[in-house]
Amino acid sequence: MKQANNILSGYGTTVFEVMSRLAIEHQSINLGQGFPDEDGPEDVRQLAADALMAGPNQYPPMLGIPELRQAVAAHGQHHYGLDVDWQTEVMVASGATEVLTGCMLGLIEPGDEVVLIEPLYDCYLPIIKRAGGVPKMVRIEPPDWTLPREALAAAFSGKTKLILLNNPMNPAAKVFTDDELSFIAELVIAHDAYAVCDEVYEHIAFDGRGHTPLMTLPGMRDRAIKIGSAGKTFSLTGWKVGYATAAPEVLAPVAKAHQFVTFTTPPNLQKAVAYGLGKDDAYFQGLSDEMQAKRDRFAVGLNKLGFGVIDCQGTYFMFADFRPLGFDGDDVAFCQHITTEAGVTAVPVSAFYLENGPKHFVRFCFSKKNEVLDAAIDRLEKHFKG
Ligand code: PMP
Ligand code: GLN
Repeated sequence: MKQANNILSGYGTTVFEVMSRLAIEHQSINLGQGFPDEDGPEDVRQLAADALMAGPNQYPPMLGIPELRQAVAAHGQHHYGLDVDWQTEVMVASGATEVLTGCMLGLIEPGDEVVLIEPLYDCYLPIIKRAGGVPKMVRIEPPDWTLPREALAAAFSGKTKLILLNNPMNPAAKVFTDDELSFIAELVIAHDAYAVCDEVYEHIAFDGRGHTPLMTLPGMRDRAIKIGSAGKTFSLTGWKVGYATAAPEVLAPVAKAHQFVTFTTPPNLQKAVAYGLGKDDAYFQGLSDEMQAKRDRFAVGLNKLGFGVIDCQGTYFMFADFRPLGFDGDDVAFCQHITTEAGVTAVPVSAFYLENGPKHFVRFCFSKKNEVLDAAIDRLEKHFKG
């Protein structure tokens, strides 16, 4: 048989799937793949169930049902003061992943350069490379994750088509400062580039940090694509409902990709997400508060065990150095070891780097019931402290 596409074939199964399978096999507490262990709001789920039975269950409009596009526009206005035309500036897709794929397929010409900040979410590189983009990597370093401005400026060139910015950032759990965002915006404008903004954790930012969409900065309204996900905002990761906001000329090429890839997203889920986005401020604040309490609870436990816990500013991931525990091996070996020997699963952080990533950090997902987090700490304690 002829060879399949080389770029995608070169990748193994994603680290999330690999670790989740291993966790199931060993009945391990799965703090690897990022998903909450409690489903999101009951009223949102009830509405989806009712809408499924009431129908119609036929193809909704390609850009999304009007209620959801209106809700995305209203959410942007209410939370960030964005003035959005729901008819020409909003697109619904099957998850943030599909929006990201649409952006890369729709915007990149082979040979275009794409600026990326490491450590980075695992689907970015394969999609960019498959679309013909040339990744230009800039690395931020723990523990403070400060943006290296010179390196970022050097990564931009006349060939830069776009920067893909994830804020709040998975797996670093960094929230970019307004000053860093301004610096990024200036580079984007100076190089006449686009900014694809993966903001799926927009409502999970801690210690009083609000979320500032890059799109709200001067000059960015017509260059940025703001991406959100009901999976994160409503703790319903299996639904795969994502949404994009962008100026009409920027959204149009992304919508072209969407029209040929999935075309639509289940209508009952769209209806329920439209309702959810209209929830009052208490809901969104409650999500951050709840995750912050879990962060604090879990960080105390990991610190007690000796892990070098890196400050978590947003998302539901904790980045931790396992060297103080005295384990002899790299991050992949450590994750396998704690899964099979302690019954707790994490993901190795080297998977979030193009190459030569650090080998002594792991990522734990803490969007779990308190008793599950406590049980994980107990198991690790028994294993490492006997
Ligand atoms: N971007 C980031 C940074 C993520 O962590 C995730 C999590 N799955 C996604 C995108 C994908 O979101 P969705 O499930 O809506 O496709
Ligand atoms: N976003 C989730 C994470 O970072 C995983 C999503 C997936 O399994 N593809 O863990």
